[in-house]
Amino acid sequence: MSSSSLTPNLPESLTAGQVVRYSRHLLLQKFGSPSRSQDAQLHLLKSSVLILGAGGIGSTAILYLAGAGVGRLGVVDSDVVEIGNLHRQILHGSSSLLAGKKYTPEKKVRSAAMRVAHLNPDDVEVIEHDVVFDATNALDLVCAYDLVVDCSDNPRTRYLASDAAVLCGRTLVSGAAVGTEGQVAVYNFPSIGFETSPERIALGGCYRCLYPLKGGGVLSGDAMGGASCSDAGVLGPVPGIIGALMSVEAIKILLSRSLSDGVCKGQSVGPTLSNQLLMYDAAECGFVKLGRPTGRKCQACCLAAEICLKSKGVQKVPSEPTERMRTAMAKLFYTVEGTRGPSCGTSSCYVSLTNRQWDISPAEYAALMNVKLSEGKDGDIMIKLMKKHVLIDVRSPRQFGMCNLPWAINWPLVDLVATPPIPPKYIYKDMKKNKTAKEMSAMLLTDVLEVITNGCKLPAYVVCRRGIASAKAVTFLRQNCIKGKKK
Ligand SMILES: [Zn+2]
Repeated sequence: MSSSSLTPNLPESLTAGQVVRYSRHLLLQKFGSPSRSQDAQLHLLKSSVLILGAGGIGSTAILYLAGAGVGRLGVVDSDVVEIGNLHRQILHGSSSLLAGKKYTPEKKVRSAAMRVAHLNPDDVEVIEHDVVFDATNALDLVCAYDLVVDCSDNPRTRYLASDAAVLCGRTLVSGAAVGTEGQVAVYNFPSIGFETSPERIALGGCYRCLYPLKGGGVLSGDAMGGASCSDAGVLGPVPGIIGALMSVEAIKILLSRSLSDGVCKGQSVGPTLSNQLLMYDAAECGFVKLGRPTGRKCQACCLAAEICLKSKGVQKVPSEPTERMRTAMAKLFYTVEGTRGPSCGTSSCYVSLTNRQWDISPAEYAALMNVKLSEGKDGDIMIKLMKKHVLIDVRSPRQFGMCNLPWAINWPLVDLVATPPIPPKYIYKDMKKNKTAKEMSAMLLTDVLEVITNGCKLPAYVVCRRGIASAKAVTFLRQNCIKGKKK
């Protein structure tokens, strides 16, 4: 799949140690005759895969690809290991949270490299990409590997990964998991411009073909509904199952390709999930395989076809991006920019994350209130706080129920921005000013705020988990009614 410059110089036969290590692969009928099966394993050792995300899905994808002897794994992740990751992200361990006895979280890419070094030290190299995968680096990263495996947790990265894969002629294995459900698909297989059969090329649609972006970058909604594990929760093993399935697809695709020119030779272990979507429901113990619509009519596929037409005669999959690819990526980037990130609850009030002038830190908030936040459970202090301000918690009722500041009102963002707005289900008696629930539900947003801020005498602060939903809420409130602040 890659040009020879991308692959390390390896001997043309397996060592005795490798024959033992990969013996269960070599025994597989699907790997071909005994001599062919050694070639298949050598092929994996010479292959490279770019993995986006070393989280729950990435954990098993990385471990199985490393175990299978895929020679070079590029891991892209800019996060550090957190304790809330460990119920599903089995690539990392509790030791990644500490350096000595001090809380010093380790970078996920470092943790991944260390784990792979334990698993398969001689045959697998991990390249640590401690960066955010974005439009400025997507093409360079994708072009440096044979195949892309997208284990990210947000639609924005999925579009970027798909666009870059289409433009660079790489196949993309994409997966997602949230709650008790997951899905896997293979995109851009075969790839535009590097395959011989036009009929087959028409089959290998991309992520953007399946989930077209509407005008203004608003998502039409993928099968996961744009939800993320950090907002909706996830059953620990589910992303692991999805990552394992993705590693199987990756191995099948690598084995179907020629390393010299990247062109599909068809000698695969079996058919891939190209033109299909595999859905997994852990609650119902079921898998469903859905057919995907054929045809390549999206903007990315059209741009890729245009580039290939202009580069007539060039049949090798490119090892670095050309200027034409960069220009096409820049065009596509503008359509992705407005899509929702991992936890932006609603597309109706998109807020640029650079628009943060109303932010205040927890320490600043505590100083303003002149109280230690831990003292707020004391009844007298709580009353004192409630006379000073109104704190609106815009997280979901479930998240609010898990942990909250007792003087806060839970007003979920989705209710606050609804038309007409849905008032908070529970507000303190003093604030209601003898309004009934029916009267409250008939009120305009401004009137609801007037009630809960005691006739606009109290300043309103907004809180959420990571500062994204509260930024949206403050922007929405400022645009639609009062002057508010957020924490
Ligand atoms: Zn497409």
